[in-house]
Amino acid sequence: MTSSESRGFRSGATVANLVANARGLQPGAVARLISLVESDSPLLREVAVALAPHAGQAQVVGITGSPGVGKSTTISALTRAIREQGRTVGVLSVDPSSPYTGGALLGDRIRMLEHATDKGVFVRSLASRGRLGGLSAAVPQALRVLDASGYDVVLIETVGAGQAELEIASLADTTLVILAPGAGDDVQAAKAGILEIADVFAVNKADREGSAAVLRDLSRVQGYKPIPDDAWAVPVVQTVAAAGGGIVELLAAADGHFAWLRSTGSLAVRRRRRATAEVEAIVLDRVRARFASLTAPTALYAVAEAVARGTTDPYSAADQLFPV
Ligand code: GDP
Repeated sequence: MTSSESRGFRSGATVANLVANARGLQPGAVARLISLVESDSPLLREVAVALAPHAGQAQVVGITGSPGVGKSTTISALTRAIREQGRTVGVLSVDPSSPYTGGALLGDRIRMLEHATDKGVFVRSLASRGRLGGLSAAVPQALRVLDASGYDVVLIETVGAGQAELEIASLADTTLVILAPGAGDDVQAAKAGILEIADVFAVNKADREGSAAVLRDLSRVQGYKPIPDDAWAVPVVQTVAAAGGGIVELLAAADGHFAWLRSTGSLAVRRRRRATAEVEAIVLDRVRARFASLTAPTALYAVAEAVARGTTDPYSAADQLFPV
């Protein structure tokens, strides 16, 4: 009996079989592997070992922006453009603000609408079913599944939400930030840090009034940041995603950035950054689990009471539960 069978793996399929089928881009097998990641299955170790030799081939593009700027519309249009070039696409949608929805997110809408019967497109929304540490460790592993399955391009989408955005950027080779008129805080957000993570900007809804103002604000903010000679000059592409306008140019900008990463050796730096994020997420998950297993809720409650009453300070309380 293999260890997979001993853990009650349904239908007797071995992990090796599952990985082989995923490598043939069989959507059922890919979905099954991602479900194992989502549920933090004990089989994950075996899966990780089987996937490792195949990882690192995909071009990973992170896509972020405020709700309503046109992320899912842009992803659908980009997917179409990438498929027209004969490349395959995996899409991962992450909505950190609603971890328990169990699936019907943006990505699923895309799948239903347009690419449902195309084996060269796989779309999945990620939910944190039962995961203690939320999605932080699941996202990089789900990405790894799509990468190792052999999709040429992997698009990871997240709603612009601070920390999650930064985490996605640490996983992607290229981060695409979408802005649009009507989401008033966009360029403010750009000042606050989006500028740091963007490799390509899309100003979507170029058909709308206000688009020129977004463009103007963006170039003013970009102007504050000096670009050294050997650095990537972040392009700004205007799009009308709903009508497919500017999408070929946007894809060319993302591909251009990937080519630049390759030619300068920066790709290796980004890949190390991704690997760091992967390992760190797993370790932090373990620390959280260790803390939860070592600390009875009543003990935590007792010290919290004391801190709230002012009879002890939070550092001493933390020392009591988790000595340095
Ligand atoms: P998301 O929340 O960022 O994923 O945004 P969606 O892709 O769901 O788009 C939000 C709304 O904007 C939808 O009603 C789209 O049809 C619309 N939309 C997307 N792209 C464009 C565009 O280029 N121009 C206009 N006028 N509307 C767009």
